[in-house]
Amino acid sequence: MNIKESFLNLSLKKKWTFTTALVISISYAAICIVIYFALHTWLYNNEQNNALRTVDDLSAFFQSQDGSITLREFQENTGLMKSIIHQNQTVRIFNMDGYEVLRINDKSKAADIRLSYEELLNTSITNQTINGKNVIVVSRIVEIGLFQGYMQLVHPLDSFESMMQYMLTAMLIAGIGALLLAALISSYLSKLLMKPLEALRDSMVSVKEKGFDEPIQFNYHADDEIGDLLKIYLSMMDELQQSFTKQQQFVSDASHELRTPIQAIEGHLSLIKRWGKEDPNILEESLTTSIIEVQRMKKMIEELLDLARREKRDEYAHANVEKVLNSVRDELQVINKDAEIVIQYFGETKQALITENALAQIIRNIIENGIRYNMNKPVIEVKVNYLSENIFITIKDNGIGIKQENIGKIFDRFYRVDDSRENTGGGTGLGLSITKMLAEKYNVEIDVTSKIKEGTIFTLRFPM
Ligand code: ADP
Repeated sequence: MNIKESFLNLSLKKKWTFTTALVISISYAAICIVIYFALHTWLYNNEQNNALRTVDDLSAFFQSQDGSITLREFQENTGLMKSIIHQNQTVRIFNMDGYEVLRINDKSKAADIRLSYEELLNTSITNQTINGKNVIVVSRIVEIGLFQGYMQLVHPLDSFESMMQYMLTAMLIAGIGALLLAALISSYLSKLLMKPLEALRDSMVSVKEKGFDEPIQFNYHADDEIGDLLKIYLSMMDELQQSFTKQQQFVSDASHELRTPIQAIEGHLSLIKRWGKEDPNILEESLTTSIIEVQRMKKMIEELLDLARREKRDEYAHANVEKVLNSVRDELQVINKDAEIVIQYFGETKQALITENALAQIIRNIIENGIRYNMNKPVIEVKVNYLSENIFITIKDNGIGIKQENIGKIFDRFYRVDDSRENTGGGTGLGLSITKMLAEKYNVEIDVTSKIKEGTIFTLRFPM
């Protein structure tokens, strides 16, 4: 648990290098073990076969001799037998009592082993240690003329062992070399891969400390996961920066907009203080204007709150369009007695996927504008088209119209086409921002077409 924890707490670079090195060493060790043991078995069998072959050759040599040959003749002439055996092997012939009668080569001592007649007949092969050296001992019955005894071949394993030793050393050296190389390469690779992540981290720290003042840039353009991450980060920061700037703009606009009515009220209050006590006309006028300004401020604050509130979208919302339109019309008709609001419906009635409140607010803001920005007797025509996949609502007014270049801006907060219109009904420049915010929330598309002095048409498309 502790090892696991400390491993998890290591830096990514170390984790990577460590894991790679570990995996490489384990695989390498496994391969080496398999190779070493296979080679060991193969070479050892080879040595055993060599020893056996010598014994076979000697037996064949003895059998091929004339039956009348005596042991003495062999004892006197070992030259031929020497050529049969390897120069580091030693062969001894004992009589059945264990007395040595013949020796070919004298490289090592005799192995002190007692074997039964059966074992000797079947050829015995054993591993022994003589004078601290490992050897293979092969023993077998031998008959020379009338003599019967047994032969003992001592086959040293020196060269086999030094060969294995050499293999082990070579594997170890190669293993350490491979490990070092792997660690080096993986450390280099991890450094290479971590570099953009470190740059990302530095950028985050910089944004945290200094805000968006310094431009964010990365020197990594590969089309891989890290490149993707950096791209997402950049676009996220871009969005954040934009919304940050917008927010700042919004706060400064809001304060600016609120300052105007406050200054007006302040002016009127001073006027009342100085002259108003004596002059009822000034008193009356200043109070009326102040009340209008306060109402304007109240409306603006309410609208700002609406914008700031940004409640979550209600997924299951639906609205009865007819009911909402009728109530908005009745409500507006009370305040704007001379306005005419006509509503027509086409197609089979459907519910719109929006709350009735939001729908009412959207429609109210648009119709109100149609009445407010109007020099004629306001006539607002509302047409509702129920289609199979959408509901279209068009709202047409006979107002002053909006210049083509300004249509794109009317949904911006505090935007008013012309300041001189500020007084026509006390608009705040927030109505359409609220409409846009609600429309976006419920996926309502808004399209605006307008002609100066003829009027404006708002088309709303509600998805089904
Ligand atoms: P306001 O509270 O000032 O009406 P809006 O956001 O509702 O703010 O509208 C922004 C501006 O767009 C208005 O000030 C007005 O200049 C212009 N506008 C909106 N609707 C119409 C319209 N139907 N006809 C002419 N101008 C319009």
